[in-house]
Amino acid sequence: MGKEAISVSVNDVNKLIGMLNGALAEEWLAYYQYWIGARLLEGPMRLEVEAELLIHADEELGHAVLVVDRIIQLGGTPVINPNDWAKHARCAYEEPSDPYIEKILEQNLAGERCAIKRYQEIADFTNGKDHATYQMAVQILNDELEHEEDIESWLTDLNRIKEEWKKARM
Ligand code: FE
Ligand code: FE
Ligand code: MG
Repeated sequence: MGKEAISVSVNDVNKLIGMLNGALAEEWLAYYQYWIGARLLEGPMRLEVEAELLIHADEELGHAVLVVDRIIQLGGTPVINPNDWAKHARCAYEEPSDPYIEKILEQNLAGERCAIKRYQEIADFTNGKDHATYQMAVQILNDELEHEEDIESWLTDLNRIKEEWKKARM
C-alpha cells in the first residue's frame, strides 16, 4: 500500500476500493466470456470475429492488471477468490449456451455496456481528486468504448447479411 497514494485519493477510499473490486471481478468474467465465446463461435464472419474476440479477451486481462495494482496501492484487498466474482460484479455472466455468432456478440455487448458504466462511474467519483485512478479509469473506458463499437459494427454487418438474404428470396 502507498501511504501518500491513499492520502491523495478520494475521501471515501473504501468506497473506491469497493468499486475497483467490482471492476476487477467484471474484467475476469468478461475475459472468460470472450475467451470461451471465441472458441464456441459458429456462423458467418467466424474467423475475423474469433481473432478479434481473443484480442478483446487479452485486453480485459490487461485491465484487470491495472485495476488490481491500483487496489493494492490504495491499501485495499483485491478479490482473492473466483467464487466471489459474481458477488462483486454488477454485470451478470452470460453463459454462451447458444454458439451462434449473433448471440455471442449480444452477450459480449451487454458486458461492454456494463463496463462502460462502471468506468464512467469510477471516473466521475475520482475526477479532480484522485488523478491516478481517474486517468486509469479513462484509459480503460476508451478501450471499452472501442470494444462496444467493434461489436456494434459486426452486428450491423450481420443484419445486412440477413436483409440481403431476405431480398434474394423475394
Ligand atoms: Fe475491460
Ligand atoms: Fe471490453
Ligand atoms: Mg477491438
